Amino acid sequence: SIVITGATGQLGRMIIADLLDAKVPADQIRAVARSAERAADLVAKGIQLHVADYDRPETLAGAFGPKDRVLLISGTEVGRRMPQHAAVIDAAREVGVAQLAYTGVFGGPKANFRLADEHRETEQRIRETGLTYTFLRNNWYTDASMFTGGLTGIIERGAIVNSVSPDARLATAPRVDYAAAASVVLNHDGHLNKAYELSGDTEWTFGEFAEELSRQTGKRIVHQSVSPSEHKAILTGAGAPEDLADILVDVDAAISRGALSGGPGDLSRLIGRRTIPLAESIAEALGALG
Ligand code: NDP
Repeated sequence: SIVITGATGQLGRMIIADLLDAKVPADQIRAVARSAERAADLVAKGIQLHVADYDRPETLAGAFGPKDRVLLISGTEVGRRMPQHAAVIDAAREVGVAQLAYTGVFGGPKANFRLADEHRETEQRIRETGLTYTFLRNNWYTDASMFTGGLTGIIERGAIVNSVSPDARLATAPRVDYAAAASVVLNHDGHLNKAYELSGDTEWTFGEFAEELSRQTGKRIVHQSVSPSEHKAILTGAGAPEDLADILVDVDAAISRGALSGGPGDLSRLIGRRTIPLAESIAEALGALG
């Protein structure tokens, strides 16, 4: 079977939809999810379900079989992800799965910012198992909450506020593109023991993002680049815990150094088409807001 953890999340659902579109029989797909309720629609389609929580390693017993091609979708709780990922990796190692793929971070071992620490460590731990791996090192999601996933707040403020330098470029792609790549590496041979640096074909600056959003909404929206300390104060003022604020400010410094720019074109090569450009993702997000 092809097994997807985080199957009830946004990326997980898109990957399962792609596998079904690619004619993988539903009963050859297994969803690993912590809530059977949230997975009910997947079960209704004939997809297998294993209920497990990364925080309770014993629940992962029986999640995987030796012939399975498994995708570990990275967890959401920054700072707690190492034990969580380790639980999945250990369960996969115990049965000796055929492939363990992982959604890591753009740059892989070279990503030198704090948010990347758990991804680097996870890749290392997967390598140490000796299992056949595939690393999907995803750049940022264009539809993440700080970009087109959070347009309402940006439009209300008339500004995208962060500590990214005005000329820094980001090569993002929307989740659907990364999902398409994941479904390809799980469903086709030729991707074993490979690491892919996945990013969008076009890069943008926050100024360009603001300009395009202004154009499409008819409202004036600007990129406001503030100092790291001001940025941190804004984040903690909005309720972010101090350590998370530090991590987010550190990401912006990395973006300013070019950590999320460029890329080798692995994503469009894997999915066999150009990645979806920023203007299209903005249009789609505005359309969804109605
Ligand atoms: P979602 O939050 O939509 O999905 C995360 C999934 O992980 C959910 O299915 C969630 O389960 C599951 N999960 C979280 N904690 C546990 C746990 N303890 N045990 C079992 N399952 C758990 O995120 P996305 O699909 O949008 O993104 C996937 C991953 O990509 C994120 O988890 C994060 O690591 C990373 N990411 C990357 C971004 C980028 O720009 N590159 C932006 C945002 C995230 P449930 O459905 O029950 O909540």
